[in-house]
Amino acid sequence: MTQATMSVKLRKCLSGEKTPKCALHPWIFSGAIEDTPDNLPPGCTVRILDVKNNFIGYGHYNPLSKIRIRILSTDEDSPPDDEFIFGKIRDAIGARKKMRIDSTAARIVYSESDFLPGLVADKYDDFASIQCLTAGMDLRKDMIARFIIETTGVSTVIERDDCEIRKHEGLPLAKGILAGRTEASTALWLEENGYKFFADIMQGQKTGFYMDQRENRYKVAQFVTDGMDILDCFSFTGAFSVHTAPKARSLTLIDESQAALEIAERNLAENGFSDIKKEFIRDNAFQHLRKMRDKALSFDMIILDPPKFAPGHSYAEKAAKGYKDINLLAMKLLRNNGILCTFSCSSAISRDNLRDIIFMAARDCGVRVKILSIMGQAPDHPILLNFPESEYLKGYVCQIVRD
Ligand code: SAH
Repeated sequence: MTQATMSVKLRKCLSGEKTPKCALHPWIFSGAIEDTPDNLPPGCTVRILDVKNNFIGYGHYNPLSKIRIRILSTDEDSPPDDEFIFGKIRDAIGARKKMRIDSTAARIVYSESDFLPGLVADKYDDFASIQCLTAGMDLRKDMIARFIIETTGVSTVIERDDCEIRKHEGLPLAKGILAGRTEASTALWLEENGYKFFADIMQGQKTGFYMDQRENRYKVAQFVTDGMDILDCFSFTGAFSVHTAPKARSLTLIDESQAALEIAERNLAENGFSDIKKEFIRDNAFQHLRKMRDKALSFDMIILDPPKFAPGHSYAEKAAKGYKDINLLAMKLLRNNGILCTFSCSSAISRDNLRDIIFMAARDCGVRVKILSIMGQAPDHPILLNFPESEYLKGYVCQIVRD
């Protein structure tokens, strides 16, 4: 028996359960496993059997991770070999081609949501940037990179495996060119909703640009009316500021990263907004919003797009306090009928949680809130219903009413 066909047995009997295989959650935790052959290496493919030896699926195994198996296939006749992975990548790219994505940058593979747990791939014009977040995908990354070049025609694939969650999988952090032109410069200008943005896909945060907010930036801009004073808090490279600039009287950007603010200034200039009154503030947003409150500053629109406060469910309560704090401060800074565009990108904070947080902040602030629009993640970051963790980005456009 080859390692590819080694079987792992679960503690439970899944046959006869109400959950059909297509609705199974794709993660199997160490505690659910009854029996594993010795010495299975990280990243190998295993057959998953339930306690009564019923076939459940095939997955990538990792003895170093609490998430011991990621299910890739529940069809006994379709083991996740190289061709299977190529087929899923092809399907994911094909699905993006049918979406209306107004950008030269898009996510072409989104992990579990594209039935490829652990693989994230973004395309920026002539480049692709991939992340391999499981041992299974890490083992196969060179072959995946070559396949992406073949199918998309990009000249270079880089890996951005410098994210902390790889440590939970026992994987080292890594960053570099995986395939294609090795001399390529990774700094580029992308175009989103008709605006130009600079991104360095090797050096920038995440994979260089937050494309999951593409549709929300367009939407938020629809709520800007002439002469608004706008505060873009957690601005990163100013993508929301650029979208709101055409009608704004002033723009104030806050971010703790000087490098991001410098790019934001460049982005605003490149899109023809050099002359608008603007301020770039490098500071901790929690502290700076307090300073602004103490100075009795006020705005017509505030965008709050913080980083992920809750890396997992155990952090949800602490994260909720953080979200409430910034939302309350923002409400205090908003003029009557001002617009609050507020986001959370924590999977552990549900859409309803965020709504409750906004409500609690409104009560403490003594204002009433109308929700004008509900926002989520861009369609190239699809939400898989049997994998609720894939729904991470939630947002509301709110109107703050003072009596
Ligand atoms: N709105 C941005 C994305 C924001 S990502 C866009 O549309 O592109 C979150 C940003 O928050 C990052 O740029 C990070 O540098 C910044 N950040 C994280 N913690 C912060 C803090 N405590 N105060 C200010 N900025 C912070």
